[in-house]
Amino acid sequence: MNVLGIETTCDETAAAVVAPGEGGRGRILSNEVLSQIAEHAAYGGVVPEIAARAHVEVLDRLIQRSLDQAGLRLADIDGIAVAAGPGLIGGVLIGLVTAKTLALVARKPLIAVNHLEAHALTARLTDGIGFPYLLLLASGGHTQLVAVKGVGDYVRLGTTIDDAIGEAFDKVAKLLGLGYPGGPEVERLAETGDPERFALPRPMLGRREANFSLSGLKTALRIEAEKLAPLSSVDVADLCASFQAAVVDVIVDRLRVAMRDFAEVAGHPTALVAAGGVAANGAIRRALSAQAGEAGLAFVAPPLSLCGDNGAMIAWAGIERLRLGLVDDITAPARARWPFAEPKAVA
Ligand code: ATP
Ligand code: MG
Ligand code: FE
Repeated sequence: MNVLGIETTCDETAAAVVAPGEGGRGRILSNEVLSQIAEHAAYGGVVPEIAARAHVEVLDRLIQRSLDQAGLRLADIDGIAVAAGPGLIGGVLIGLVTAKTLALVARKPLIAVNHLEAHALTARLTDGIGFPYLLLLASGGHTQLVAVKGVGDYVRLGTTIDDAIGEAFDKVAKLLGLGYPGGPEVERLAETGDPERFALPRPMLGRREANFSLSGLKTALRIEAEKLAPLSSVDVADLCASFQAAVVDVIVDRLRVAMRDFAEVAGHPTALVAAGGVAANGAIRRALSAQAGEAGLAFVAPPLSLCGDNGAMIAWAGIERLRLGLVDDITAPARARWPFAEPKAVA
């Protein structure tokens, strides 16, 4: 079973071919990603109209390249999976219309995949882990703690009430005059900084529900930065380190709550899993790994290339759904908003 995956929901245009592999894992036959970072850098964030146009310009060639890399023709593909949302609607439409056209012309099943579900299932693609597992999904647009019980069976244990973690990294980078996207830059500078120089708040610490709040932390950092302006490079590094340390503390505390809530809805997890662009952060990965170890859980995080947006995760989610007969109609809608996990019922 070879599945083509197409991803255009944000600022990465991506296409990949994946097949089922050994040990429950997936076998990535090709994984082509074209980032639009350069197109958006001047604006300090993603401009939807520019993103949509950039997807149109490269998507057909990228799909051809992913087939070539896999050594396959369209006729050898068993399903066409596409991220049908959530995301920037112009980009989503481009991927979806392209996938529908290919599915119609080549008479292949169409699988309309939820982008967040694809992030959530990446640990099965890479490590073949079984259900249920506890997921921290942290990206530019989302921050959620989820009990992943099965394909299509997700219980949300917590979410952010304001900024996503990746968004907070991006905003902090912007206010410190660093590049976009901010996560990698903040992490790099944090390595040389003093994480204890600024006593930044740890919002939500000790709260009963596994929710996040990050805007207050970002504001506290802005106030410190304004007090010091103009900032020296040491100031910037110390601010980055102090910010990252606060984020790590918040994540560890929120996860502690989520682990307890997980038992209520899904029993004992097979693993603690991190996914989404923020899962690329080394300090966060180390903290999660230590916490999983203390709880006697395996820790699984995708290789860096599969943390951010990519086509392989979409193709894999397509395989997971196709195996269960979950295919979609040619009328499948593009969705700007598309929650993938049911909120946990309040006790
Ligand atoms: P979503 O998946 O919610 O639709 P998205 O597509 O923007 O949003 P991803 O591409 O999965 O999200 O992740 C991008 C985000 O990850 C950005 O906010 C970026 O700053 C953040 N990020 C990337 N690398 C790191 C890092 N090393 N440390 C912290 N954050 C990071
Ligand atoms: Mg992205
Ligand atoms: Fe994403």
